Amino acid sequence: MVKAIVGANWGDEGKGKITDLLAEQSDVVVRFQGGANAGHTIINDYGRFALHILPSGIFYPHVTNVIGNGVALDIAKLAAELADITGQGVPAPNLIVSERAQLLMPYHVLQDGYEEERLGGRAFGSTKSGIAPFYSDKYAKTGIQVCDLFEEARLRDRLHRAVEVKNVLFEHLYHKPALDEDQLFGQLLSLRERIAPYVGDAVSFLHEAVRSGKTVLLEGQLGSMKDPDLGIFPMTTSSHTLAGYGCVGAPVPPTAIEDVICVTKAYSSSVGSHTEPFVSELTGPEGDELRRRGGDRGEFGATTGRPRRVGWFDAVATKYGCMVQGATQAALTCLDVLGYLDEIKVCVGYDVDGAVTDKFPTTPALMRARPVFETLPGWKCDVRGVTDYSALPANARRYVEFLEERIGVPIKIVSTGPRRHEIAMR
Ligand code: GDP
Repeated sequence: MVKAIVGANWGDEGKGKITDLLAEQSDVVVRFQGGANAGHTIINDYGRFALHILPSGIFYPHVTNVIGNGVALDIAKLAAELADITGQGVPAPNLIVSERAQLLMPYHVLQDGYEEERLGGRAFGSTKSGIAPFYSDKYAKTGIQVCDLFEEARLRDRLHRAVEVKNVLFEHLYHKPALDEDQLFGQLLSLRERIAPYVGDAVSFLHEAVRSGKTVLLEGQLGSMKDPDLGIFPMTTSSHTLAGYGCVGAPVPPTAIEDVICVTKAYSSSVGSHTEPFVSELTGPEGDELRRRGGDRGEFGATTGRPRRVGWFDAVATKYGCMVQGATQAALTCLDVLGYLDEIKVCVGYDVDGAVTDKFPTTPALMRARPVFETLPGWKCDVRGVTDYSALPANARRYVEFLEERIGVPIKIVSTGPRRHEIAMR
């Protein structure tokens, strides 16, 4: 059976922790989209890790980890991450890198940076890790697949075609130096050696795993709001962040996904630029305090270190986010963070041009939306590490149950701290 762990919001919901926890009872953990542009924070007996490209099952020797064809594969970063975890005492992981995955090339990173520079104040606040140019090239069919690395004449030809187009763009649109094709080719050959031991037929492996009744976890990156079709376009990422895309990017059969666990935080956070709509945002000293107390070390991006914008729980966005994921259950993280508040607001509606709605609108209307809040009493105590739901203060349970009712999905997992076992199952 296949379970997906995906984000209901803007990413950073705490998916890494939930995946790490559920990986314990799984056979396979798969990354099926995105690249090294976001990070999952995992804290376990080996230490604290920010994983960017490796699946979160790598800490368990019984788990096979798969980097699926839907991922933007930055081989240099993958090699560095592997060296980092083994350097910290984690046993060498079982890893399969799909031969159909495509390579995130150094010129994608350059292009991302050049484009942000060109846009200046109109920039989207990209992490400049090359994700948008990578996926553009995939759909323009100028991408390079992992399997191409092992066919040198073909690789040369693929690279030549890609560089030809990039150089026109780099020299004439961005006024930057042209790429050196020979140097890139050499780089690819040496990187090839570093991933060769892991390259395999992930497609057959996964279909066989499903057929033989293995438990497969699909590990999503970012969240519903960042999906290029159903998110807040164009402040989106460039790959699909929805569980449904796991059927392509992992891949697994659509009918095999039985459980979609949508992760959401007890408050909102978004790492995007200040031009993005964020209806329930908390600014000023109240926002600063929540940002400082959030997550395990404050709300700062795991990959970029950027301060995240924070706000009250947005039930409108989260209900929509769970709906488009096809959530069968929700996991609510960071409940412990809110213990300092006398009162807690929840955004239960959007006022768009004077009409209140609980339906998540398209981007132009979202830009005009104003939050409609309901206020709940806080619980004013530290619930960190509580593992028995019924032992939570009544107001904390009331908060969880209020959110559950608003988002229309059962909250079966409540996380009360960043560590693996700081969790209450309902
Ligand atoms: P992901 O990308 O969805 O995996 O999320 P991140 O790892 O980027 O961000 C989640 C942050 O919250 C990390 O710093 C986690 O260690 C932390 N975290 C996860 N669950 C909890 C929780 O229940 N309580 C607290 N205080 N922190 C948590």
